[in-house]
Amino acid sequence: MAHKKIIIAIDGHSGCGKSSTAKIVANRLGYIYIDTGAMYRATTLYFVQHKIDISDQQSVTEALKKIDISFQFENKTHKSSIILQGENVESQIRGLEVSEKVSEVSAISAVRKKMVALQRKMGEQKGVVMDGRDIGTVVFPEAELKIFMTADLKIRAQRRLQELNESGHSPSIEEIIDNLEKRDNIDSSRSDSPLKKADDAILLDTSHLKFEDQVEKIVNLALNRISKN
Ligand code: C5P
Repeated sequence: MAHKKIIIAIDGHSGCGKSSTAKIVANRLGYIYIDTGAMYRATTLYFVQHKIDISDQQSVTEALKKIDISFQFENKTHKSSIILQGENVESQIRGLEVSEKVSEVSAISAVRKKMVALQRKMGEQKGVVMDGRDIGTVVFPEAELKIFMTADLKIRAQRRLQELNESGHSPSIEEIIDNLEKRDNIDSSRSDSPLKKADDAILLDTSHLKFEDQVEKIVNLALNRISKN
C-alpha cells in the first residue's frame, strides 16, 4: 500500500539554512517546497513599493486586500520563485531593505492572518516541506514531522554572506549580524505567533554540521515518519 504524504515543518532562527535545506529535502522526497519567509518578504516589498505606513491599520488592511502572492514551480529544475502581483520578485526580496523591515511587517496580526490562510491552503494536499517561524506551532500544529533549526550567530552570518554574495548582494558581515540578531529578537518577542520551538519538534543545531549531513538527517527522519503513515 502506498504511504500517505506528510507535512514537514521546518522552523528556526534567521539564516541557519532552513530554506536551502528544506528545498533539497523536498526534492529528495518529491514534495513541494514552500518558503513562507518569502511570502512575508514579498508583502514587505509591496508595502515599501506602495509607501504603506505600517502604523496605519486602515492602509495595511486596504493593501492586504490587493496583495496577490503565489509561487511558480519549475518541474525540471525544482526551482520555486515567489510571484507578487504577477511579477517574479525572488531576487528583489533578498536585499537588505526588505530584510530590515520584514520582521516589523511580520509582527502585524492582519498580515499573519492572510499569510497563514494561504499557507494552510498550499499545504492541504500534504506532501509539502514548509519552512518559517510558526509552521509547527501555528500553521500546521498537526504536522507529522517538525524540525527546529538553530546555529551559532557568527556561523549563520558567514553562511548568509556567502549566499548573498552569490546572488549579487554585497553587505558587510556586521550588517548581516546586526540584521539576524534584530530579526530573531523581534520574531521571538512578538505577541502573535512568536518564534519558538514546538514541544514535539526535533532540535537541530547546524553550527557544526555539513550541509549534506543536515539534509541527510532530515530526509532520514522524514522517510521514517512516512513509512509509519
Ligand atoms: O525565512 P526568512 O528569513 O526569509 O524570513 C524573513 C522574515 O519573515 C523573518 O525574519 C520573520 O520576521 C518573518 N517570518 C515569519 N513567519 C514565518 C516566516 C517568516 O514571521 N513563517
